[in-house]
Amino acid sequence: MKLNIDSTTTLHNGVAMPWLGLGVFQIPDGNPVEDAVSWAIEEGYRHIDTAALYGNEAGVGNAIRRSPVARDEMFVTTKVWNTDQGYSETLKAFAVSLERLDLGHVDLYLIHWPCPSQGKAIDTWRALEKLYEDGRARAIGVSNFLPHHLEDLMAASSITPMVNQVEFHPHLQQPDLVAFCESHDIRLTAWSPLKRGQILLEPTLGAIAARHGKSTAQVILRWLLQRGIVVIPKSVRQVRVIENADIYDFELSLDEMAEIDRMDRNERIGPHPDQL
Ligand code: NDP
Repeated sequence: MKLNIDSTTTLHNGVAMPWLGLGVFQIPDGNPVEDAVSWAIEEGYRHIDTAALYGNEAGVGNAIRRSPVARDEMFVTTKVWNTDQGYSETLKAFAVSLERLDLGHVDLYLIHWPCPSQGKAIDTWRALEKLYEDGRARAIGVSNFLPHHLEDLMAASSITPMVNQVEFHPHLQQPDLVAFCESHDIRLTAWSPLKRGQILLEPTLGAIAARHGKSTAQVILRWLLQRGIVVIPKSVRQVRVIENADIYDFELSLDEMAEIDRMDRNERIGPHPDQL
């Protein structure tokens, strides 16, 4: 199937999720996030990834409401932060996020981190199940869950998460997690797909990029899409928001895919999910 900027993946509950989204971590609320989201929408992005933690849900909502694109064509993800875990706390946190976004509903609501030391992930998941059943979140999922966190959650609940959003880039490929999620029809989303810029000078990527006349960032994003992983690169620069979406006019060969697969070092830039 030929991918384009409108391509979506169907989650296991039937909801369509765009393969490409704009991440807005560390983009200040107000003009900076409103500009980034507006440029993205203008470019054809229909998926925005925010979180209560990011402090910019209001700006994300403003930009979407002001855009010419209908709300129903947009896919908005937000997340419950660690200190709000627990059943009633999560329901409250969701209400605050929804008010800030002011978009009527959330397309995907995630548990931001498993936080095993708190022991509240299952109660938190029950709140997400309730929000899903009430139609306030069209899909629900988790973030930063390893297979053993997912196993614990799934053993104690009736709805399998539709998405798991995790750190994923050529230096961190998590093969066990990929296999687990594939076997349970849980869609993976890659956060920090560009390793926050710290991988863009890798010679292997540079050589592949030169062959295709693309940038190393575009090669990584294309590799992720061809692996069946949703991508949510972040940028505050319009030229990069555009560049990161210009990934549909080339295809990596099987050899090139394998070359990038071999770059795995099991190296994180974020915390280990068992330790936060
Ligand atoms: P990314 O891997 O998306 O990298 C962003 C960095 O790369 C920024 O410094 C940006 O700079 C730069 N950049 C972006 N595009 C290009 C390009 N084409 N060429 C060169 N440099 C580029 O990192 P993030 O950590 O932001 O991850 C993406 C999103 O994932 C987040 O915004 C957030 O939505 C989500 N996330 C989720 C987490 C979770 O726990 N669930 C944790 C962390 C992130 P500039 O802005 O100056 O262009």
